Amino acid sequence: MVMWGPIEVIKIKQEGIDKMQTWNIGEAKITKVVEMEQMWPGQAVIPDANSAALLEHGWILGPFADRENGRIRLSFHTFCIEIGDEKIVVDTCAGNDKTRPNFAGLSNLQTDFMDKMTEAGFGPDDVTAVICTHLHVDHVGWNTSLRNGVWQPTFPKARYLFGETEWAHWRVEPQIYGDVVGDSIQPCIDAGLAELVQSDMQLNDAIWLEPTPGHTPGHHSVCISSGGEDAIITGDVCHHPIQFEFPHWSSEPDVDKPAAISMRRRFAERYCDDHTLILGTHFGGPSCGYLRPMGNSWWLDSAGFADIGDNLPNS
Ligand SMILES: [Zn+2]
Repeated sequence: MVMWGPIEVIKIKQEGIDKMQTWNIGEAKITKVVEMEQMWPGQAVIPDANSAALLEHGWILGPFADRENGRIRLSFHTFCIEIGDEKIVVDTCAGNDKTRPNFAGLSNLQTDFMDKMTEAGFGPDDVTAVICTHLHVDHVGWNTSLRNGVWQPTFPKARYLFGETEWAHWRVEPQIYGDVVGDSIQPCIDAGLAELVQSDMQLNDAIWLEPTPGHTPGHHSVCISSGGEDAIITGDVCHHPIQFEFPHWSSEPDVDKPAAISMRRRFAERYCDDHTLILGTHFGGPSCGYLRPMGNSWWLDSAGFADIGDNLPNS
């Protein structure tokens, strides 16, 4: 595992519901609620993505990078899906008040994330299900909140869906970012809200999990299909769209790098189909696009999608 020391980042703010991005996939409405979006040195996450390499490929990065400075836009956000009576949250970012040694950028955060969630209609009592694509520190944080000095499930009426394979891995893995299991997973289990699920679980007619292991052993993506329209939430299959052009550019935290590389290729081959909307879990700016073929690889075409980060430096 990688140690994340203090990284000089440039923060980008998302303020108010008018700054929230939404997509409609048939009957499903998806809202992106941002915990934080930052400009990162690319190589901090993807070692091959140094500034020179990013600048060389700047033409293809579009709104996903700062082409002047060779930095990538990295977003920590939740995708909130509303369909029928269900309100489903996919990944819960880093959370407030959590002590994260070796990851200064996520430690003891005090953000207004839950205010924005409530504004978007996904307050604590609204959410019916929480999906974690995997159990890394930046995907489970708002599973719980600190109340009266005790970690308690943030969404007491939700069922928390944790991958069985993923949980089997992390429950015995040494934790170097603090007690992630103890403060963000175990309280949901103790409250009787957790369900261990298979990586191909079908939640309802429109939403199911798709196994995409490699980044972590039990990683899954989330498919949404309704009214003849399709979307997929990547999880951490890749951290930045440039990894569709260069699937062999590993993310530092990929647990099994060869498996993650082949998973990225298979993912791009499968969803480069001119109609599946790709929703990137860490992609900044528009956070989405369609996969287009390019030589032996792919690129993410975000033309026509809104970019809420209009206070992006140097834009
Ligand atoms: Zn992540």
